[in-house]
Amino acid sequence: MNNHVTIHNVSFAFPEKKDSPVLANVSLQVQQGEFVSLIGSSGSGKSTLFKLLAGLLEPTVGTIDIADVPHGQRLGRVAYMPQKDLLLSWRTVMENCLLPAELAPGRQDKDKLRADIIAGLARFGLSGYEQAYPDELSGGMRQRVALLRTLLTGGQLMLLDEPFGALDALTKREMHRWLLELWEGIGQTVLFITHDIEEALLLSDRIILLTPGGQGQQLRDMTVPLPRPRHSDMIYEPALVQMRQQLEEQLHAKR
Ligand code: ADP
Ligand code: MG
Repeated sequence: MNNHVTIHNVSFAFPEKKDSPVLANVSLQVQQGEFVSLIGSSGSGKSTLFKLLAGLLEPTVGTIDIADVPHGQRLGRVAYMPQKDLLLSWRTVMENCLLPAELAPGRQDKDKLRADIIAGLARFGLSGYEQAYPDELSGGMRQRVALLRTLLTGGQLMLLDEPFGALDALTKREMHRWLLELWEGIGQTVLFITHDIEEALLLSDRIILLTPGGQGQQLRDMTVPLPRPRHSDMIYEPALVQMRQQLEEQLHAKR
């Protein structure tokens, strides 16, 4: 297997908080086609790590390498769904979904993209909302539009920052099924941030737990012992129940 993402000894501090780095000495490798979830308490630096991977921020120390992406040119080449959906309020759902193609003209055929958007909206339960504006949608609907937009950018590496946080349990389960089907079909590499341990177990090959420590984060790495394809009943399997307890304890352990 080939590494898709190699994070080597990365540290990062915001310029105004030079003395308290958000990330310190983080190293992580993700293989081509792997589905990896990041969990960790609020403020542990998960979203910052994604911004570094997406090229919106540069590490203070260390290196990030992504296969097939020239060094230092990550911005725009990685499919990134930020935690805040960032839909533009003055553009319709369709116009929002077309935005990445407009920012990188020539990479995608616009008619095909339009057709894919319409099909995707139908699949996400949003048929007929092409001309709606973000303000007319619920939080969960906005998240689905933002996810669709990210999926359709066509990047081989996908960063999804709490993409299902605003969804009710039933919709979430449908989205899980849909995302897994899609991922099993195209084999993109997915990095996925969530607070939902059950979700992380059900979706991922591997779970990385970020815990703040004295010298920056400690990363604990766990492989999910479930075969594929996955289905939602698997969370009741004894091995999983045990792993879930472990994760919960570590996540809520006193720092
Ligand atoms: P998480 O996603 O794990 O909840 P974040 O990566 O969003 O954590 O934040 C990690 C830390 O960095 C927090 O202490 C947060 O307050 C700080 N932080 C996040 N964004 C900024 C910013 N733009 N400027 C300064 N500090 C920030
Ligand atoms: Mg976050």
